[in-house]
Amino acid sequence: MTEIELVFLGTGGGRFATITQKRRTGGIRLMSKSFNMHVDPGPGALVYSLEAGLNPQKITGVLVSHCHPDHCNDAGVLVEAMTRGMTRKRGVLAAAHSVLVGNENCDPCLSKYHQTMPELVVDAKPGVSFNIDGAKIIAAEAKHSDPSAVGFRFEIVDVGDIAYTSDTEYYEGVGRPYKNVRLLLLCAMRPAGSPWKGHMTSEDAVKIVDEVNPEMAVLTHFGMKMIFKGPAGEAKFIQQKTGVPTIAAKDGMRLSIGEKIEVQTHKRKIRGLDSFLRNT
Ligand SMILES: [Zn+2]
Ligand SMILES: [Zn+2]
Repeated sequence: MTEIELVFLGTGGGRFATITQKRRTGGIRLMSKSFNMHVDPGPGALVYSLEAGLNPQKITGVLVSHCHPDHCNDAGVLVEAMTRGMTRKRGVLAAAHSVLVGNENCDPCLSKYHQTMPELVVDAKPGVSFNIDGAKIIAAEAKHSDPSAVGFRFEIVDVGDIAYTSDTEYYEGVGRPYKNVRLLLLCAMRPAGSPWKGHMTSEDAVKIVDEVNPEMAVLTHFGMKMIFKGPAGEAKFIQQKTGVPTIAAKDGMRLSIGEKIEVQTHKRKIRGLDSFLRNT
């Protein structure tokens, strides 16, 4: 079975977790033998990729779920990496309408210059699907303060499906586009008992996990209240309520998906940023 690897280059979300870097905000790298994508490159995506020994010039897909800086800040520089420093038409940029075009509450986050060099630019409205090196990806509706926000479902032959909700509040049917994925990544910004319109609490996460019925759920994108309350305890709460194995991601955590979904606990030799820069 083809293996997929996910690297959490950040597990923080929201303004204050971002400003303080209490948790990193570099987004998620999603890799297999055939594809290599960066999902939601917030501040630090470039630097933490280099630090983890994940060459950003190898990516062939940049996915951006909405226009907030904790999701899109480093998208421009990653497009530059993907396109060999803007010298080659290469890769796929798939981003919410707000990121590419703007909407009533934000200007585009990526310049026209950056939008010219990917081989394919996808205006990822809910229901739109596209392919990146053998993975089929479908954008799904999120309800967030950016009205163009979307989540993504990744359909990967021979392995199974993965979903990423992005920032959303719970509404009936939010989980429908992600039904029965193997791995569900939830932007669980708030702990139970701290609701905030347009954002996900642990109670919302319970309802989404119930709708989706994944093999495993992983919480990420933690805001300050969540960080102080303790994401691991919230994951336990969600697991108890749903019966679905649920964990809280940590900065730098790697997950592999093959026959099983496993956290890679063995210490990998990761080159430091200094040595990466010396050797490239
Ligand atoms: Zn966010
Ligand atoms: Zn947001």
